[in-house]
Amino acid sequence: MRDEQAPRVHRLDTTLANQIAAGEVVERPASILKELLENSLDAGATRITIHLEGGGMDLLGVEDDGVGILAEDLPLALERHATSKVATWEDLQAIQTMGFRGEALPAIASVSRLELLSRARSQNQAARLQVTGGMAAAPEPAARAPGTTVRVADLFFNVPARRKFLRSPAAELSRNQKVLRQIALANFPVAFQLIQNGRSLAQFPATDAESRAARVAAIMGEGFLANALYIEQEDQGLSLSGWLGLPTYNRARGDEQYFYVNGRPVRDPVVTHALRAAYNDVLFQDRHPLYALYLKLPPERVDVNVHPAKAEVRFRDSREIHDFLFHTLRRVIAEQGGAQPRMTVP
Ligand code: ADP
Ligand code: MG
Repeated sequence: MRDEQAPRVHRLDTTLANQIAAGEVVERPASILKELLENSLDAGATRITIHLEGGGMDLLGVEDDGVGILAEDLPLALERHATSKVATWEDLQAIQTMGFRGEALPAIASVSRLELLSRARSQNQAARLQVTGGMAAAPEPAARAPGTTVRVADLFFNVPARRKFLRSPAAELSRNQKVLRQIALANFPVAFQLIQNGRSLAQFPATDAESRAARVAAIMGEGFLANALYIEQEDQGLSLSGWLGLPTYNRARGDEQYFYVNGRPVRDPVVTHALRAAYNDVLFQDRHPLYALYLKLPPERVDVNVHPAKAEVRFRDSREIHDFLFHTLRRVIAEQGGAQPRMTVP
């Protein structure tokens, strides 16, 4: 045994604790965009505008017309473990919102210059709060229509080591666009616009049930829509709907695959395996189908609290989910023209 004094245990200061948490949820502008969009959706926004400069590295702003935040709650919204979305263990078991961890805003604010500007629908004045690297100034009165604007400037200005991991503005922009497409494909009634350096780069008007296909075509291409089957299937509390690409319309890369569980974009090995298996007989190993599929199930049958960025879920009965997906999709694929036997590779 070395004769050394045991190091003292001490509490991390708040900013450092938030910066450590930021390592999990704030990887790059696109991860911030995802969190901010989820907050706007949770606030019931019907119109969301994204402003970017430098691919989101210099500025990333999200503006919504949601319920807003009460002026007196602004400082709290920026504190860790502070949320308006869950209060009890029961709430957590039946989560209906995209957010629930109360971590995103403080984490983002600890590694950027963040401005939170909001007006609650019930209040006639807005308030603004500025935070620099986790240090909040006092809230001040401001003007704004009901709703919330979050502006994140100079990402990682105080953690240069993290800034180095960011790519070019063009590469970060394209990741932001991917996040927007992913979220727009799951929130049809909401209008989205993406503006970079004052130029509109993407616009998805709100759609009703009949015009959903138009948004799918705008995001995944007319070609996909012309080569996709719309499906709706329900069985024992599980429901699967969406657009399933024909096996003949495939890609070398699996980047146009959208799968949602209760409106949440997820990547999940159970889902991936079931889909792969469903296409197995009709698709070469190195080709990938395209799809936008929506699985709905009672919230208590899926645990969404397994990943800080909420990109993964855990099904309580994964065998059942797997079989439901596999059998539903395989039958559709076999019935609708995909029934040719797979050719063998010479
Ligand atoms: P979470 O979403 O997990 O609750 P966040 O850190 O993302 O945690 O947000 C903290 C709180 O700030 C939210 O619970 C919500 O009350 C409020 N908030 C954040 N963004 C918005 C928004 N765009 N509109 C209304 N309220 C918001
Ligand atoms: Mg959130």
